[in-house]
Amino acid sequence: MNLAPVFRLGAETGTILTMQEQHLQGPPVLSDEHIRSAFRRRGLRFTRQRASIFRALASTTSHPTADELLTFVRDEDPRVSLATIYNTLEVFTDSGLCRRLPGALASSACRYDADTRHHVHLIADNGQIMDVPPELGAELMAHLSSDTVAEIERRLGVKVTRVDLRLIGQIAPNDGGFSS
Ligand SMILES: [Zn+2]
Repeated sequence: MNLAPVFRLGAETGTILTMQEQHLQGPPVLSDEHIRSAFRRRGLRFTRQRASIFRALASTTSHPTADELLTFVRDEDPRVSLATIYNTLEVFTDSGLCRRLPGALASSACRYDADTRHHVHLIADNGQIMDVPPELGAELMAHLSSDTVAEIERRLGVKVTRVDLRLIGQIAPNDGGFSS
């Protein structure tokens, strides 16, 4: 069994990835043209409101909830409503333009990520979701044993198509770390 495609990070290429790479290196400049072509590739109609919502989501690595996104988007477009944010996120998620992430607790709100590349998340005890640096995420994934996965497939009678690894952690206290 060849696990390489399953564990490969950064599988998605194209304009979105390029925008996200820019984004990781500093404040993104998402022009309407970038957004227009991202929408076109997913068969989505371009509207100013959709563009503001996507721009706000792609401009942060904080994995915002719909509520948090609303506060970002209102800076640009004060008329947008929470219902519109939810509907638009639904459309983005269905078209693969963003990912919906379950909240840290069963009761917490879903969070959204415009980075659709395969990457590892750390879920902190305060509900925050952080991106593990890509090279470290890739290293973790590379250490998963393909023999173990093959054995799981054999015993459960399934074909593993994707591994979604989440780390759960506590935020270090302000005074410099955890005492052990
Ligand atoms: Zn993420």
